Amino acid sequence: MNDGLRCTTCGQGSVIEIELKLPDGSQVVFCSCHRCESKWWDRNGEHLDLDALVDVARREA
Ligand SMILES: [Zn+2]
Repeated sequence: MNDGLRCTTCGQGSVIEIELKLPDGSQVVFCSCHRCESKWWDRNGEHLDLDALVDVARREA
């Protein structure tokens, strides 16, 4: 369904997506590459660092 999503590190399409909803109501997608094990977050098409998302979760807690 999401065949447009590719790993930004290795360029492969074998990316696992897990949709999550943050406490502030925003929807984010956790992406993990099967091939090179890169991990990142995507919010409205915008890539987020893992650290940035932890900050959001901590602030909302
Ligand atoms: Zn990759």
